[in-house]
Amino acid sequence: MADNQEKPQNVFDFDYSRDGRERPPQDYYEHIKEKFASERDLRLGYRPPGTDHYTSDFTGDFAKYAVDPYGHEVEDREALNDEVEVLFIGGGFSALLTSARLREKGVESIRIVERGADVGGTWYWNRYPGVACDVVAYDYLPLLDETGYVPTRHYAGGEEIYEYCKMIADRFNLYDLAVFGTTVTSTVWDAESELWNVETDRGDTIKARFVVCANGTLSKPRLAKIDGVENFSGYSFHTSRWDYEYTGAQLENLKDKRVGIIGTGASAVQAIPELGKAAKELYVFQRTPSSIDVRDDWETDPEWAATLEPGWQAARRARAIEGPQISDAVKARRQAMSREEKVQRQENANIDAMMRIHNRIDEVVEDPATAESLKPWYMLMCKRPCFHNEYLPTFNRPNVTLVDTEGQGITQINETGPEFDGVQYDVDVLIYATGFEVQQTGIYNQIVGEDGLDLNAKYSNGIRTLLGIHSQGYPNLFIMGGYQAFFAFNLTDVLNSQGEHIADCIDFVRQNGIHSLDCTHDAEEQWVQEVIDHRGKTNRNRDCTPGYYNFEGADNRRQDGNYNGTMKQYLGHMSEIRENMADHFVFTHR
Ligand code: NDP
Repeated sequence: MADNQEKPQNVFDFDYSRDGRERPPQDYYEHIKEKFASERDLRLGYRPPGTDHYTSDFTGDFAKYAVDPYGHEVEDREALNDEVEVLFIGGGFSALLTSARLREKGVESIRIVERGADVGGTWYWNRYPGVACDVVAYDYLPLLDETGYVPTRHYAGGEEIYEYCKMIADRFNLYDLAVFGTTVTSTVWDAESELWNVETDRGDTIKARFVVCANGTLSKPRLAKIDGVENFSGYSFHTSRWDYEYTGAQLENLKDKRVGIIGTGASAVQAIPELGKAAKELYVFQRTPSSIDVRDDWETDPEWAATLEPGWQAARRARAIEGPQISDAVKARRQAMSREEKVQRQENANIDAMMRIHNRIDEVVEDPATAESLKPWYMLMCKRPCFHNEYLPTFNRPNVTLVDTEGQGITQINETGPEFDGVQYDVDVLIYATGFEVQQTGIYNQIVGEDGLDLNAKYSNGIRTLLGIHSQGYPNLFIMGGYQAFFAFNLTDVLNSQGEHIADCIDFVRQNGIHSLDCTHDAEEQWVQEVIDHRGKTNRNRDCTPGYYNFEGADNRRQDGNYNGTMKQYLGHMSEIRENMADHFVFTHR
């Protein structure tokens, strides 16, 4: 067990260059690739590429989908009119991690402004039944060295992670100045005072020297635009606003209910097994199946936990960043291959992995037609891979029906429930597992920098940042989890690095008698080019089935995405920039 606990997580676990493996002829792979392409084209044919078929405009009839079901914990308060040194927009892991680093550097005046009633971000909002994290907890939960906490399981559940977020906030005294149930509505740079003026939906006007956009990568829920949504007379909510008052804490109120769930992404995959157990009838409306692999979970071995020395998590993280050790023999084999051969071998190995996932479906799911419908026809990693041991067996339950819309999606909802292919599915409650807006910096918030320029207006000509963190014309503003930064399966790895970088930048400013820092046009331009240079090396965007990993099939500017170098390269750039601050930033003094 201890060995397993040390094992780094590798979701893309195959060595394409290994020799001596029995493989089917190349025709077999080409045939599967054709099927991948036709399934992708089918989906793109049904909908406009991009996110136009989603809405996150939760006004009017849709306002109910944005209501915080846990918000009653927030008390009324007087509007604030004061000044802080560092203000975080959002109170999830981005804010918690960066604040911890700032505390280490002696920064006292830190305020988190958070829409929810507590810290936690995604773990505050997502409390749907079965919620858990697919990233190994010893890697995902940050600051374990600092807090001395050891996760109770290999994969932590949502509740444990949410409690841990609160523990961090307590530990670093982040509740002192925090305000909850509060949404930042505007963040405007005041050239005269060289401070940010931050306004909220509670009437607050707060001045801040530094602002950190810590609003999360997937925080604004979205609904599919489906005709007749507003005509549905039953109960409905989004997975990130789970209504336990309706369902009951243990879903006991669903025992006589017909439940429908729209979407089969990572949230749905975790909620569906619980719904299957609790509901009288469950209808799962699927557009594209997720890939479902084994979830290798276990309780943390106390003997292993007792062996952990201070600094164990940092050491583990350093090993993960370094990546798997590749032997000289493997390196030599890879170097000897042509680019075409490498790509073909990678694709074949990927298809092997996907067919293993198909085989598991055949083994587990009893009804052959349902098994066929649950098979994902795209390369692994085109969509976020899922890991679950109860999801597939749920479809063997007599009360559970998979409604396979074969790429089309639900397009019509009537008074009594969704309709597909001329069949009406009457349900009492409809749950939208339709995801979130992706990596939007100024979510709920207008950010206006020097010269009155709105950040969205600047980005409309192409995203421009340094490291995805700084944008020229927005002094003392830092962006976390945005585009042009590295993006990892373990998001907290990225946030951790960004938090350290931001804390170092703020410390630099404070230690050197500087008032503000702004990246130079040249530094920003160099980074934009670096992002462009690392994008589009493969046809993955074009070849993949639509999903948020490939911008839902939309063609976008080469700079409008994540930095596709390695994590090690990203960290290298960060270090180089911090070692040569004057080459990348201009400073003001007061
Ligand atoms: P996603 O955006 O991944 O999923 C949305 C789902 O809605 C997709 O299955 C989509 O189908 C479907 N959909 C949209 N419109 C329709 C329609 N008209 N009819 C039927 N289906 C429709 O959102 P999630 O909330 O599931 O996950 C978001 C992200 O959050 C994950 O990718 C992951 O990064 C993170 N997460 C991680 C978890 C973990 O660690 N286990 C758990 C939960 C979330 P289609 O695929 O065809 O677009």
